[in-house]
Amino acid sequence: MALNTSCYAFLSVSLKLSSLSMSQVFLRRNIAPRVQNGHPWIFANEIDRIEGSPEPADIVEVYTHEGKWIGSGYYNPKSQISIRILSRKKGQVIDAGFFKDQIQRCWEYRQQIGYAENCRLVFGEADGLPQLIIDKFNDYFVIQTLALGIDRWKPAIVDALLEIFPVKGIYERNDVPVRELEGLPQQKGFLSAPFETKIIIRENGLQFYVDLANGQKTGYFLDQQDNRRAISAIVKNATVLGAFTYTGTFEVHAAHYGAKTVLGLDISASAVEQANENARLNGLQDRCRFEAANAFDLLKQWTKEDKQYDVVMLDPPAFTKSRATIQKAITGYKEINLRGMKLVKPGGFLVTSSCTNLVPASLFLEIIAMAAKDARRKIRQVCFNTQSADHPIVWEMENTQYLKFLIVQVL
Ligand code: SAH
Repeated sequence: MALNTSCYAFLSVSLKLSSLSMSQVFLRRNIAPRVQNGHPWIFANEIDRIEGSPEPADIVEVYTHEGKWIGSGYYNPKSQISIRILSRKKGQVIDAGFFKDQIQRCWEYRQQIGYAENCRLVFGEADGLPQLIIDKFNDYFVIQTLALGIDRWKPAIVDALLEIFPVKGIYERNDVPVRELEGLPQQKGFLSAPFETKIIIRENGLQFYVDLANGQKTGYFLDQQDNRRAISAIVKNATVLGAFTYTGTFEVHAAHYGAKTVLGLDISASAVEQANENARLNGLQDRCRFEAANAFDLLKQWTKEDKQYDVVMLDPPAFTKSRATIQKAITGYKEINLRGMKLVKPGGFLVTSSCTNLVPASLFLEIIAMAAKDARRKIRQVCFNTQSADHPIVWEMENTQYLKFLIVQVL
């Protein structure tokens, strides 16, 4: 930690010196008003001219073509997104204090909307801190800095967490390919003194192991934490099949809420091992177990064998990361939902999610409707939610709304 602080002292002085001569960026004349309407990204082809010679990661001032103030943000000529706005307040100094204030505000907001132990503390653009993700697991924190301009502030961000929270450990999960678009290496490791990275968190009265260092993403899908409660009524006395279970959070909830039997499937053997551990941790192993399997193959086989469940839950991965191959995602979602629906007893329920922002809510519902038609089943909507509220949605930034969570009755 001492190292972080001294690094920061040096950084702070050099940043203050450079801010005295902040470069000024003027946008092109006829670009869409996206940035002026609140979106923080400025693409390379939207820049008309730069006065000054900013270094990569420097803070620059941004103006319209006519010289009207827009805001200040960090600059990276290597990235297609050349600037990301951090502040729209004229004269705002971007320093360690700025990041501490912002993170404090993020925490106050999470508390206001009802989060206490675990939450996404910072959700990047939606919290005014582009490309910064901080997940809070009680007193443990996982950080992702996904752009050069925010990566530079990592020591200040770590110091802010240490000042605001009774921190037990901080871990960096920057093992993410998107960093390479910014000229950054993929890396992970401790940002505090080393600690045991397999921790136990509490959620809805249950306990779950979370592997901060080796789990998927930041170790745990906090974005479904509100939705896990949404299944409580429909799983009572039910036979439940879950596919794409990861560490079994939905399935352990189902057993806890009174399901008769729960079977969870995931293709990853280590996820299945941890899911079974999670069932045991909550004393639910007699009613809740997990197997490693390819859900596409097994669901197809079980449809042929006329297997039936009261409730089928699906939470597949994104299937595509690019708009160019969106058809792949549509086909994947349709196929798996078709198979899932066929396994639901008449009058039972399908619980289905999609985690990619490339498939908007309206398209997701269309896909489910197509699957129902092909399965020759009528469906009616029980609820349609998005991600947990600790991942705020900002309407000007369509990427901030990404999760779809739907429960339908299958007649
Ligand atoms: N519901 C989980 C998150 C699921 S993430 C939670 O709330 O924690 C998606 C999961 O799908 C990953 O664990 C991944 O290993 C799994 N997966 C991907 N392809 C699969 C396939 N073909 N069959 C089964 N599981 C698959």
